[in-house]
Amino acid sequence: MIKFFKKFTFLFLLPSFVFSQTEPLFKAPKGSYLTATDLHIHTVFSDGSVWPDIRLREALREGLDLIAMTDHLEYQPHKEDIPHPDRNRSYQIASELAKGQEKLRVINGAEITREMPIGHVNAVFIKDANKLLRNNAISSINEANAQQGFVFMNHPNWDAQRSDGIARLSPVQEDLIKKKLIHGVEVVNETTFSEEALKIALENNLTIIGNSDIHGLTDWLFEIPKGGHRPITFVISEGKKINQIKKALFQGKTFVWFKDLLIGKEENLLPIIKSNLLVGNLKYANGKQIGEFTLTNHSATLLNLRYTGSFSFHEDGKVFQIPPYSKKVLKIKTLTNLDYIELPFELMNGIVDPNENLKFKLIVNKN
Ligand SMILES: [Zn+2]
Ligand SMILES: [Zn+2]
Repeated sequence: MIKFFKKFTFLFLLPSFVFSQTEPLFKAPKGSYLTATDLHIHTVFSDGSVWPDIRLREALREGLDLIAMTDHLEYQPHKEDIPHPDRNRSYQIASELAKGQEKLRVINGAEITREMPIGHVNAVFIKDANKLLRNNAISSINEANAQQGFVFMNHPNWDAQRSDGIARLSPVQEDLIKKKLIHGVEVVNETTFSEEALKIALENNLTIIGNSDIHGLTDWLFEIPKGGHRPITFVISEGKKINQIKKALFQGKTFVWFKDLLIGKEENLLPIIKSNLLVGNLKYANGKQIGEFTLTNHSATLLNLRYTGSFSFHEDGKVFQIPPYSKKVLKIKTLTNLDYIELPFELMNGIVDPNENLKFKLIVNKN
């Protein structure tokens, strides 16, 4: 108990800079909540290099709202030194440490670890990971579903299991999807993005997921001190209760932030851009037909925009970038003074399909 208390105290006496992030990573569309999640995380309880408390601290530092502890059920290379028959231990330790604060939630999970044709499968929001430890992987997946878990395919592009790096569904995976025993797929895992996995997600109506699959330190792998970040799956839910977040995951209401890319179904990405890229009023200097307005990026990612309309800009080309949390003034040559302009754009780093970027329109009004 004393040992536990010490650990607990230490966690919440972290320096204040850890909690100093005031702006959210992305603004939520009106009437909805955004939850920044990482649903694929390892600790020493499988083949990770750190104790679960480090996972909590990393997630807090990086602005996450929810993490799932998903150690391998069947692969425990540290078991000689750290015997751990209970597959719920990393979750139990992390969730005890998370008690008493509201920022970060921890949920239980497990990685079902097989060769192809099943490959690696994560189950999150499960109740008891021990019951998933079975000889037959299909039986593990059935148990995860019996526990009302959210189940997804991990890294279908993994070059240890797909030497060409191309994600393809095996007949067993197709069958699991058809039976609705698999609900999502990682299109982003660690430092990789799979356009083929995105295609699989869209064709089979699976939830689009992107995770760190972290084994070492996120700071090192994702070069966070140099401005990097881990892959994050944002869940767009109607409320912030855990059941509402889970429901939204099942409904496919997610998008993934990976490097500079935003990856998601159009219906999910569009409201995110509309609430994070805001346009100011249109002004014309006396006697000129050059309109001026400001675009503000309220998000943590750079926005790489291409204007697809027929006007031209006075100081920019058709392609320009707006860095995170910053403004850009645009001057547009409209030939006559207009009361409003409809501006069609393509978000070049917004991916709604392997061959399609997010398209949207902004309206700029004269006061
Ligand atoms: Zn794996
Ligand atoms: Zn893993």
